[in-house]
Amino acid sequence: MNDKTVDPRLLEMLRCPACVRSGPQAGLLDRHGNWLVCRDCSRKYPIRDGIPVMLIEEGDKYKATAIQDLPATAQ
Ligand SMILES: [Zn+2]
Repeated sequence: MNDKTVDPRLLEMLRCPACVRSGPQAGLLDRHGNWLVCRDCSRKYPIRDGIPVMLIEEGDKYKATAIQDLPATAQ
């Protein structure tokens, strides 16, 4: 099951850990399926089993991957 819901209030609070220090509106994330994509640095954080994995090392893995080329679920 990859279709678990994530609490929208949680998603609203989340920020990219690599960018959040730059300011209160930095590191905002857009959700694309099972991914959260940072608007500032394009790091992509996977959502695994309904839990966003907010680790910079994870975000780095698909940083250069276009949103449409992301796998449905992170490996
Ligand atoms: Zn970022």
